[in-house]
Amino acid sequence: MSRLDSALEPIYAQVLQRNPGEDEFHQAVLEVLDSLGAVVAKHKTYMDARVIERICEPERQIIFRVPWVDDRGEVQINRGFRVEFNSVLGPFKGGIRFHPSVLLGTVKFLGFEQVFKNALTGLPIGGGKGGSDFDPKSRTDGEVMRFCQSFMTELYRHLGEYRDVPAGDIGVGPRELGYLFGQYKRITNRYESATLTGKGIGWGGSQVRKEATGYGTVYFANEMLGTVNGSFDGKTVVVSGSGNVAIYAIEKVQELGGTVVACSDSAGYVVEESGIDLELLKEIKEVRRGRVREYAEERRAKYVTDGSIWNVPCQVALPCATQNELDPDGARALVAGGCVVVAEGANMPTTPDAVRVLQGAGVLFGPGKAANAGGVATSALEMQQNASRDSWTFEYTEGRLAAIMRGIHERCAGTAEEYGEPGNYVVGANAAAFMRVADAMLAMGVI
Ligand code: NDP
Repeated sequence: MSRLDSALEPIYAQVLQRNPGEDEFHQAVLEVLDSLGAVVAKHKTYMDARVIERICEPERQIIFRVPWVDDRGEVQINRGFRVEFNSVLGPFKGGIRFHPSVLLGTVKFLGFEQVFKNALTGLPIGGGKGGSDFDPKSRTDGEVMRFCQSFMTELYRHLGEYRDVPAGDIGVGPRELGYLFGQYKRITNRYESATLTGKGIGWGGSQVRKEATGYGTVYFANEMLGTVNGSFDGKTVVVSGSGNVAIYAIEKVQELGGTVVACSDSAGYVVEESGIDLELLKEIKEVRRGRVREYAEERRAKYVTDGSIWNVPCQVALPCATQNELDPDGARALVAGGCVVVAEGANMPTTPDAVRVLQGAGVLFGPGKAANAGGVATSALEMQQNASRDSWTFEYTEGRLAAIMRGIHERCAGTAEEYGEPGNYVVGANAAAFMRVADAMLAMGVI
């Protein structure tokens, strides 16, 4: 059940009408609008200047053909996207996703979320997102390189450190970013480091960027636990996914004294009561590009292909795989299993109905746009280092990340309180982020 304010209903109706079939984008917009009733009641100018309608319309959407030749000499054609959503706070900033499921609506939902996430960091970055329906998992290194080169051959003209700065996302890790940056450098004949983030440490990347989204999610969840006098120490934790975000969330939970008892990929999940062996998981996922099934076989651990990871009892759950992976049944299972905190490492992994189940049961829920903002925040720190031709130590950079996550938590908690919803991080995150973006838009006139 949505509680959309009547003043906002026509805006949502227009979004539905103008963007047919883009369910994930509708979902992301509704989630934000749901939180803004009290904000627009208090600040009428936002409605008068039609700021919300403007925010719901991307500044620019780029769709392009990506032709390339596979190892058998056959021509392949994929589709590339970059949705430059909002640059009122800084250059467009947001990752690129390579996954067969990517459609324009996927990239729009991610770009929309990114605008608010980036605003919450307090850093000078706008929001955008990109991707392609290319599947790197089924391809050789040579094929991935040729695809990335073709993708960048079109995209480069839209990028630049003052214009649009991509990073990685699902299916785009260090290998893909290397090929993308290499082609950008070659075409432009310029070493513009700050045009792409998540680069290798040896060629302009930042310490902690690889770890940042996972670490940041755990810092945020730790702040949430702190509000009920808790911490990760001694907690049982379930982390879905086993990619970049999941692996470094597991690492930080372990450092803080928690035990991660389950993780997954799209084929199944592994359960290990004594805790996941992170070194082996990293070896299998990051070096061998293997599967969770292989991890379970090597550890002789329980591996489940036909169930839900949320049935594994835990006190803290961190969904770190993909959108809409935690549904109401999963949420009810978490509640029954004693879960007290859910923080989203992935983007929009919890369905709106599942959020209601969790919040209704008193579970503290941290939405991705707040909880997983550590990745993009550290990307912005990478841009700072590139601009000053400097590179910071791991300790210093991690300190900056931790402070940013504390700041985001404070902003969300404080704004939720101000709008009469203490402990509601969804309202806090959406309202705080929206007002930062909206105020800048008002200041700049009708843009
Ligand atoms: P990776 O590609 O490194 O890992 C993705 C993980 O999620 C894999 O374990 C993958 O399993 C699983 N997964 C992907 N799609 C599905 C699906 N349809 N069903 C079930 N499992 C799936 O991506 P990241 O770790 O970088 O990203 C994970 C999430 O975090 C995404 O929502 C992303 O948008 C978000 N995020 C990432 C940031 C970053 O810095 N990387 C920053 C902020 C948010 P399999 O291998 O079987 O597909």
